[in-house]
Amino acid sequence: MKQVSTPGPNNAASADRTTTGPPADSAGGRLGVGSEQERPWHTLSADEVAGALQADATSGLTDGEAARRREQFGPNALAAAKGRSALAILVDQFESLIVVLLLVVTVVAFALGDNVEAVAVLVVVVLNAAVGFLTEWKAEQALTALQQQAVPTAHVVRGGEEHEIPAAELVPGDIVLVAAGSRVPADGRVIECVRLQVAEAALTGESLAVTKTVEPIPDDTAPLGDRRNMAYLGTAVTDGRGRLLVTATGVRTEVGRIGKLIEVAGARDTPLERKLAQLGHALIGVVLALCAVIVLAGWLRGHEFFYMLKVGISLAIAAVPEGLPAVATMTLALGMKRMARMHALVRRLPAVETLGSTTVICTDKTGTLTRDEMTVRVLQLGTRRVDVSGAGYARAGEFRTGGGAIDVRTDAHLTLALRVGALCSDATLDLTGEETVVLGDPTEGALLVAALKAGMSKDDLEREYPRLSEVPFSSESKRMVTVHRTPSGRAVAYVKGAPAVVADASVGAFTGAGVRAMTTEIRQRVLADNHELAGRALRVLALGYKDLPDGYREEDLTGGFVFVGLVGMIDPLRDEAKAAIETCRVAGIRTVMITGDQEATAAEIGRQLGLDRDLQGRPLRTAHGRELADLDAAGWQKVAAEVGVFTRVSPEHKLRIVEALQAAGEVVAMTGDGVNDAPALKQADIGIAMGVKGTEVAKEAAAMVVTDDNFATIVGAVEQGRGIYANILRFVHYLFSCNLAEILVVFIALMVGWPLPLVALQILWLNMITDVFPAMALALEPSNPDAMKRPPRDPGESLVTPRFLWLITWQALLLSGVTLLAFAVGMRWYGAEGSGLRHATTLAFMTLALVQVFHTFNARSQRRSAFTARLFTNAWLWAAVATCLLLQLAAVYTPLLQTVLHTTPLSAADWVAVLTCSLAPVGVVELVKFGRRASEPRARISRARGSP
Ligand code: ADP
Ligand code: MG
Repeated sequence: MKQVSTPGPNNAASADRTTTGPPADSAGGRLGVGSEQERPWHTLSADEVAGALQADATSGLTDGEAARRREQFGPNALAAAKGRSALAILVDQFESLIVVLLLVVTVVAFALGDNVEAVAVLVVVVLNAAVGFLTEWKAEQALTALQQQAVPTAHVVRGGEEHEIPAAELVPGDIVLVAAGSRVPADGRVIECVRLQVAEAALTGESLAVTKTVEPIPDDTAPLGDRRNMAYLGTAVTDGRGRLLVTATGVRTEVGRIGKLIEVAGARDTPLERKLAQLGHALIGVVLALCAVIVLAGWLRGHEFFYMLKVGISLAIAAVPEGLPAVATMTLALGMKRMARMHALVRRLPAVETLGSTTVICTDKTGTLTRDEMTVRVLQLGTRRVDVSGAGYARAGEFRTGGGAIDVRTDAHLTLALRVGALCSDATLDLTGEETVVLGDPTEGALLVAALKAGMSKDDLEREYPRLSEVPFSSESKRMVTVHRTPSGRAVAYVKGAPAVVADASVGAFTGAGVRAMTTEIRQRVLADNHELAGRALRVLALGYKDLPDGYREEDLTGGFVFVGLVGMIDPLRDEAKAAIETCRVAGIRTVMITGDQEATAAEIGRQLGLDRDLQGRPLRTAHGRELADLDAAGWQKVAAEVGVFTRVSPEHKLRIVEALQAAGEVVAMTGDGVNDAPALKQADIGIAMGVKGTEVAKEAAAMVVTDDNFATIVGAVEQGRGIYANILRFVHYLFSCNLAEILVVFIALMVGWPLPLVALQILWLNMITDVFPAMALALEPSNPDAMKRPPRDPGESLVTPRFLWLITWQALLLSGVTLLAFAVGMRWYGAEGSGLRHATTLAFMTLALVQVFHTFNARSQRRSAFTARLFTNAWLWAAVATCLLLQLAAVYTPLLQTVLHTTPLSAADWVAVLTCSLAPVGVVELVKFGRRASEPRARISRARGSP
C-alpha cells in the first residue's frame, strides 16, 4: 500500500506554559528502566526494546504486571497539583488571625473571672472553624471533581484488549495508541506508524512537526529532535496514527527530567480571588486601626480597659472579611458545577470570571450554529440539475429532474457521482437500527445516504472498488482523494472537496456524452452553479475522478482530474442558534462566524442569523481567507471592526483574528476543534473546545469544553459567568455594609458619649449568624434575568469601584443609624443603667440583627426592586432569613442565651420599635432604587461598558 501524506499541520499547541517540576529521581528498577534512562532506546529495534522492557509488543502487559509496575514506578505524573486534604483544611481554620483574637478574648474573659463568656467564646472558635471548614471543603470538592473531569486519558493495549485509562496509570512496557489530535501520554518507542506526525515544540522548541518512523536510528548521540522513532510525553500528534511502547513515565520522561511541567488544567487562583484576598488584607489593617481607636476612646471615656478590649476585638472579628476568598471560591466552584450540567465544562476556574466579561464570541459554523446533519438536496451534473428528496438521514428519497423521476441505473453520470461521493469518504452508516446513524463526518454521511437512495451501499461499492490509498481531508487543502482498484484492475483516484479547489485541479469535465476538455466556459458555469447553490445556504462539494497509470505516484493525485459534478446539501440551523445570537446582541456581545466553508454559503447563513449587522445595526461584511493572507496591523484593525463572517479561513488565520480583536480591546471567546486551532484557543481570553468534534489537543488548550458543540451552550455559560460574578459582588456588598454598620454602631455611640449599644458576645453572635447564612444565600442567587440585558463588564474594572464603596458606606450608615435609634428609644424607655441598659441593649442588638437580615433583600440587586416576581426565586435566602429569625428569637427568649448574650425578653411595644427601625432601611433603599431606575435612560445597551 502506498503511503501518501499531506503536508502536516505544524503549528500545534506549542507554547505550553511550563514551571519547574521536581528533580528527576534516579530510582532504578529491575527492568533497568529507571537507572538506564540514558538507554538509547532509539538505536534498538522495536523487538529489542520490547525484550528489554519485558513487554509483549502485540497484546501488551497483563493487568497484574501493570499493577506491579505501577507500584514500582509510581504514577505517570509530574508533580501533580494535589488538592488539600480535609485535615489540612481543618488545621488551616485554626491558623487565622480571627482565632488568635478570639483566644485573646477567652483569656481576658477568664482573667476577669467571666467563665460563661470564656466558654461562649470557645464555642465561637469552634463554630467559626466549622463554617470556614465547610466552605473551603465544599469548594475543594468541587475543584477536585473538576480536575478529575480534566484528567488526560490514554488508549492502552493490555491483555490483548484496548482500554481507555487515565494517563497517570501508564507504566513502562505499556502499549499506547495515539492518533491525530492526541497528546503523547508518556515517552515511548514508536513500534507502528501510519503517517504519524508529532509536534514537539513543547520539548525541542522545533515548530515543524516531525514525521515518525519505526526504524532504529543507529546514532546513539542523536539529539531528541532526531530520534524520529521515539515520541515524548507532552508532545502533540498532528497527523496519522501510531503505536508506542512506553519506555519512561512520570519524572523519568524527557519532560520530567528537564524539569518542565505540562500545564495543569484547572488552575486554582483566579484574579477575582486574588483581588478579594488583597482587599481582605487591606481591610484588616483598617479594621484593626479603627478598633484600636475604639478601645482607646472607650477607655478614655471611662469604660474599663479589659471590657473595651473585648468589645474592640469582637468588633475586629466581626469586621474582618476573612471568609471572603473562600466564599468566592465556593461560588465559582459551584457555578462551575452548574455549568457542567449545562454541557459547559470549565477547565480553568478563572474562565468563569472572564466569561462574564466576554465582548466577542468567535464561533464555528458547521455543527455549532448548524446542526451538522447534512442532507443532499441537489446534484449539478453538467447542465442538468437533479433534485433529491427525503429528510435527514432517512433512506427514503428519489432523484428527479425537471423532466420527472430518474432511473438511476441507466444514468451513468449520476451513478458515477454517487459512487465517487460514497467511496471518497471515511464515514460509515450504521443501518441496524430504525434510524440511520452516521459514524464519522456528517458531510460524508450525507453522501452515503444519497447513494443508498439509489440502491448503492458503501460496503458493496468497497468490495467492487477496494481502496488502495488516500490523501485525507484537511482544512488547509479543503479536499480529499482516495485511490481504488476498478473491477477491471486499473487504479482510479476519486476526489471530493471545495468546488473551486476541485475545478482548479480538473483538466476535463464529464458529460452525459463522454469527457470533454475543461474550458474556461465550463469552469465558469461550474462556479456560477456553485454560487447559486451556496446562495441558498447549501454546503457545496465538488466531485471528480482520474484514471491513474500503473505505478502512480503521490504527485499524480494533485491534479489532472475529470470534473464530475457538484453536490449541494443542507445543514439546517440549530433551532436555538438564532435566539442565542440575539441574546448576545442584547447583552452587548458581538458574534463573529469563522468557517472553512465558502463565501456564499457562509454569507447566507450569516444573513439568516443576523451576523451581517453589528451591535448598532450597521452592516458588517463577509471576508474571504484570501484577503487575510498579508494584512498589516492597520488592515487587521479594519477587518476586526468590519467583518461579521470570515470564510475559507484556515486555522492560522484564527490566531490572527483573535489577536486583532484583542488589539481592539475586545475580550474574545473563540471556538475550535482541530489540532491547528490550539494556538488560537490559547490566545483567546476564553478558548472553547468542542466536546464532540474536538481533539484532545484542542481540549487541552481550551479554557472550556462545550460537550454538545452547541453555540447556545456557550451563551448560557457567558450568562452563568455574569451571574456568578454578580453574586460575588452581592455578598461583598452585603458583608461590607453589614460589617461596617457594626463598627459604626459602636463607634458613633462612643463618640456621642452613650453607653455601648452592644456587648462583646452579641457582636460575635451577629458575626456568626448574619454573616454566614444570608451571605451564603446571596452567593447562591439564581442568575438574574437582567444579566444578559446589559453590556459586558469591563474586565479591567476594579472590584470595588468608588460608586460601589459609596453604596456600601451610605447603606452602612443607614443600618447603624436605625440601630442607634432603637437603642436611644430603649434608653429613653428603660434608662441607661443596670437592667434598663440591658433592655436597651437588647433592643439595639435585635434591631441590628434584623436590619441585616432584611438588608439581604437590598443586596440582591443594586437597581431592581426587591418586591418583584423574583422575590421568591431564591429558596436559600428565605431559609436563611427564617433561620436567622428563629435564632434571634432564641437569643432573647431562652434562658441560656439570655445569660450568655445579656438579653432580656422583648415586649410588644419593643417589637414595634424594633420592626419599625429594622424595616425602614428596606423602604429607603427601595426609594433610592426607584429614583435611580426612573432617571435611567431607556436604552441602556450601548457599546459603552457600564458597571454591573
Ligand atoms: P467548516 O467545518 O467550518 O465548514 P472545514 O474547514 O471543515 O469548514 O471545511 C472547509 C471546506 O472543505 C468545506 O467548505 C468543504 O468544501 C470542504 N470539505 C469539508 N469536509 C470535507 C470532506 N470530508 N471531504 C472533502 N471536502 C470537505
Ligand atoms: Mg468541518
